[in-house]
Amino acid sequence: MNQASLECRHISLSYGATPVLRDVNLKIEPGEFFALLGPSGSGKSTLLRLIAGFNQHQSGELLIDGQDISGVPPHLRGVGMVFQNYALWPHMTVWDNVAFGLVERRESRDAIRRKVGAALELVGLQDYGQRRPGQLSGGQQQRVALARTVVIEPKLLLLDEPLSNLDKQLRVQMREELKNLQRQLGLTTIFVTHDQEEAMTTADRMAVLNQGVLQQVGTAAGLYDEPHNRFVAGFVGTAN
Ligand code: ADP
Ligand code: MG
Repeated sequence: MNQASLECRHISLSYGATPVLRDVNLKIEPGEFFALLGPSGSGKSTLLRLIAGFNQHQSGELLIDGQDISGVPPHLRGVGMVFQNYALWPHMTVWDNVAFGLVERRESRDAIRRKVGAALELVGLQDYGQRRPGQLSGGQQQRVALARTVVIEPKLLLLDEPLSNLDKQLRVQMREELKNLQRQLGLTTIFVTHDQEEAMTTADRMAVLNQGVLQQVGTAAGLYDEPHNRFVAGFVGTAN
């Protein structure tokens, strides 16, 4: 099974003079479903983009399976990322959206047909291949975005607030789907959310980020029962 470990060692990043990530230390185990929780503007997307290779840190080390990947370009990192707005191509069919990464890699037609079929089946969209994203509901578009990412067989899956565009009821349903999918694939997953309930009901462990500083890392029960500071207590304890 494709399961990477991830380690951030003393990672810092500034935009100009503004520090956005400050000395972030984090270790995520193979196969773990890890939530990164924090308010808007705390640096969650910046950290994910950094792991995916779209942002560069100014200091520290970023290791996948123990290897420093700081200089490795995004497409060679074995990292798949699902964006908040899904970023599907509106002019392409669902099938072509999902196939895109495989076509880019010049995989054989047979392999593409097999893998895209399997990925669409995994998210329950096997009958929607010929639709365009605009003809799908928000939840279905979210599933396409997931299929498009898992089809490239990443070792590490990054989800940037994947459910935040959905209404509450669907969010709860998709949360369960995500969890099942993650279990089924066994993929090391980092799930970014600003919703503490979402984090606490899905993740094995989680980290709370505030103003670029990791406040605490632990299980839901650990953070809830023994928060290290008032920020964590307030953030994790607040009802939705
Ligand atoms: P989150 O995902 O937790 O909401 P972000 O990582 O998007 O937070 O942003 C963290 C901080 O970095 C915010 O203050 C944001 O304004 C700033 N920021 C994000 N991207 C850029 C950028 N490209 N240039 C300058 N500042 C940025
Ligand atoms: Mg964000």
